[in-house]
Amino acid sequence: MAFELQKLPYAFDALEPYIDAKTMEIHHDKHHAGYTSNLNAAVQGTVLEGKTIEELLAKISVHPVAVRNNGGGFYNHNLYWDVMAPGGAKTPEGDLQKAIDASFGSYENFKEAFTKAALTRFGSGWAWLVKQGDSLVISSTPNQDNPLMDLAEVKGTPVLGVDVWEHAYYLNYQNRRPDYVNAFYNVVNWDEVARRFKG
Ligand code: MN
Repeated sequence: MAFELQKLPYAFDALEPYIDAKTMEIHHDKHHAGYTSNLNAAVQGTVLEGKTIEELLAKISVHPVAVRNNGGGFYNHNLYWDVMAPGGAKTPEGDLQKAIDASFGSYENFKEAFTKAALTRFGSGWAWLVKQGDSLVISSTPNQDNPLMDLAEVKGTPVLGVDVWEHAYYLNYQNRRPDYVNAFYNVVNWDEVARRFKG
């Protein structure tokens, strides 16, 4: 069973003005589609064919680099589309809110630390909110690595991720990554983040 490109759960222009339609279209239809087909090509006809994406990521250190880059790209973008939604700025609620308060002190502190992780990632990569047991930590990874990979510095279950590759923001924000990251908070789907936190 080959990996399939997930359909975007909303229209290309649904996240405007925070993320523009053209960026969304190219990001999904070209970049994510590319990771997906390259992942299929990398595992096809090998012992890795038929494994789930989670199985591949858990032992990524022993797999070919094409599986690392494209398997990460496949997984990370599925998460990225799902943890965004139109609807404007909201904040976490319920158990997720309690865990954020317990781990970071407050939502504002979380935001500051997550933004810092996104802005200090040199070059291409991701910033993550990661579940470790009942608590939450923030990390960032280079390229298409993620916290599910056995070689990640900070391991755990990613519940929120922001793509800081230039392809995620350059059309609208050019070099202004801080503006993109600040805008991202307006489109976070905290219900989905809470669902992933619950596990
Ligand atoms: Mn991307």
